[in-house]
Amino acid sequence: MRIILLGAPGSGKGTQAEKLTFDFGLLQISTGNLLRQAITDGTKIGKKAKAIMAAGDLVSDEIVLDLIKISLSSDSNQNSFVLDGYPRNLSQAKSLEELLTDLDLPLDYTVLIDVDSDTLIKRLSGRRICSKTGKTINIYFSKQSEIDQCIEAGGELIQRTDDNLESITNRINVYKEQTEPLIDHYKLNGLLKVVDGNGEIEIVYKRLIQAIGVQI
Ligand code: AMP
Repeated sequence: MRIILLGAPGSGKGTQAEKLTFDFGLLQISTGNLLRQAITDGTKIGKKAKAIMAAGDLVSDEIVLDLIKISLSSDSNQNSFVLDGYPRNLSQAKSLEELLTDLDLPLDYTVLIDVDSDTLIKRLSGRRICSKTGKTINIYFSKQSEIDQCIEAGGELIQRTDDNLESITNRINVYKEQTEPLIDHYKLNGLLKVVDGNGEIEIVYKRLIQAIGVQI
C-alpha cells in the first residue's frame, strides 16, 4: 500500500498515519517529524528549518525532497508507505511523481482528511505532547484520565512551538494557498479519496480504512 494523507494542519494526518503504520506495517514518512528531529539533533537542515517552522511557513522544496529521498532509499519497508505532510505544494507533488516513477513505486491513493476550520483551530491550539510518554493530548478533547496519566508519570504537557495562534493562522493560510490546489491535482489523476475527518480518532480511522478498501 502506498498512500499520501492530505489535509490541513490539525486534520489528524499524523495520528491516522501512525495507526496505518501499526496495522499494516507501512513506513510512515512525516516530513514534519523528520524536520523536528533535525532541529533536536542540531543538524544543518535543522538550523535552516527552525525559524521557518516556528513561523508556520514552508521549508524549501529541496530540503524536504532530500528527506523523502533518504527515507525511501534507506528503509527496507520502502515498498509500502504512508506520506504524512508531503507533498505540500504542486512543485513537491511533481518532484514526488518523478521520484516514484524512477523507483517504480506508483501511488495507490491520496486521501484528503477533511475537517471543519473551527475544529482545526481547537485541535491545534489545544494540542500538547507529554514530555514523559510522548503521547499527544488535547486539553479540550482528551479525557481527564489521559491528562492525569502524563502528570502521574512525572511528565509535563508541552506545546509545539508552532501551535501558537499566530503560527496556526499562518499555517492554515499557507495550506489554503499552497496545499489545497493539490486536491484538484489528485482528483484529476483519479487517485483522490475524501474522508470526513471530524469526530473521534477511531471513527475517522474506520472511514479511512473503508475509503482505501482494506481490512484490519
Ligand atoms: P507538520 O508536522 O506536518 O504540521 O509540519 C510542521 C512544519 O514543518 C510545517 O509547518 C512546515 O514548516 C514544515 N514542513 C513539514 N512538511 C513540509 C513540506 N512537505 N514542505 C515544506 N515544509 C514542511
